[in-house]
Amino acid sequence: MKVMVINCGSSSLKFKLYDMEKTNSVIAEGVIEEIGKDKSKFKYKSKNMKKDEEVVRDVEAKDHTQAVDQVTKILLDPKAGVFKDKIEVDAVGHRVVHGGEKFSKSALITKGVKEVIQDCFEIAPLHNPPNFMGIEACETIFPGVPQVAVFDTAFHQTMKKEAYIYGLPYELYERYHVRKYGFHGTSHEYVSQRAAEFLKKDPKKFKVITCHLGNGASITAVKNGQSVDTSMGLTPLEGLVMGTRTGDMDPAVVTFLMKKEHLSADEMDNLLNKKSGLKGISGISNDLREIMAAAANGNNRAQFAIDIFCYRITKYIGSYAAAMGGLDAVVFTGGIGENAAEVRAKVLAPLGFMGIRVDNTKNKSKEKEKIISPVGSRIKVLVIPTNEELMIAMKTKYVVAESGNIYR
Ligand code: ADP
Repeated sequence: MKVMVINCGSSSLKFKLYDMEKTNSVIAEGVIEEIGKDKSKFKYKSKNMKKDEEVVRDVEAKDHTQAVDQVTKILLDPKAGVFKDKIEVDAVGHRVVHGGEKFSKSALITKGVKEVIQDCFEIAPLHNPPNFMGIEACETIFPGVPQVAVFDTAFHQTMKKEAYIYGLPYELYERYHVRKYGFHGTSHEYVSQRAAEFLKKDPKKFKVITCHLGNGASITAVKNGQSVDTSMGLTPLEGLVMGTRTGDMDPAVVTFLMKKEHLSADEMDNLLNKKSGLKGISGISNDLREIMAAAANGNNRAQFAIDIFCYRITKYIGSYAAAMGGLDAVVFTGGIGENAAEVRAKVLAPLGFMGIRVDNTKNKSKEKEKIISPVGSRIKVLVIPTNEELMIAMKTKYVVAESGNIYR
């Protein structure tokens, strides 16, 4: 069975084509950027190409449908392609950011499912509309092929009310569904499962805190395979300090600054989401590598940014251990979580009192998937590279099989 995984942004389309028969291997992958412009940039590689070889070309993609069409063209290309004369895609799995309260798992896309994705446009205006465009584009280009929506929010639907209801008038939850949803669910689910597998633990008796630290960053408490709490909220703004997002703060700051700086709601939204976080504090960049380089050169604000970023993560780990009534493991993933040994060490240093320890040599070793706590530690600390696309492909395969769809 061949599964195409699609992740659409407003002007981009990423895809990975998997052979899900035996090895779950990637057959081809690529990204089209600057969709909607005169010329769009297409990067592509396939299993038939050499390791460092890549196709980079300008293509015409006025919209997402044309972008998907360009993908099919290259998959059939006599040189770079992977198919001879017809596209053999058995299912398409879409990353959909917001599934609201309706989806606690992935869903075969129907008219009703599309309506719910559209209903969530209001609470996920940056993400759900392009995800939806990707679905419609694939319906046009791959008619009759089952399509599956895999929601970033679905994994967190197991949270209890005490974790997801905000301290607002309850009617506002009833009227507008304003509550904590949580995101990065596919990643938190993947790395929590992988950690249990790696440690040979029963996932049903396993308390793990998963730290997905990238440009966007979130932490989840996963108890016995279920998300019990997570740091992102109604939108991906809540929780940790991120590349350009504030994370948690007193909500009164919002109205205070709107009045002081004469900001509209949209301007305030932009400040909170795009100008804050590591970028806003450091005044340098949203990229942690650049901030670390500046801090090493004595830049104080860069050092503050790192200190604030790490302190917030430490606090969440402590609170989530309390939320679960114990802890077996902490997992780091995402660009920062997987690569920044200094961040991992700094985050965990104050948590020795809980039995969390880091072995410096293991922490700095080159291995990608590893345990970095000393042998014999009660609480294991792991680094696990996330693989959201593979998780989407696996869920797509499962949903298609469960729905009784016949594939080749
Ligand atoms: P996104 O959320 O956009 O997918 P990533 O998961 O790719 O982001 O993470 C991007 C972040 O990871 C950037 O802040 C980048 O600086 C950081 N990062 C990547 N490699 C390293 C490294 N070796 N050391 C420190 N930070 C790193």
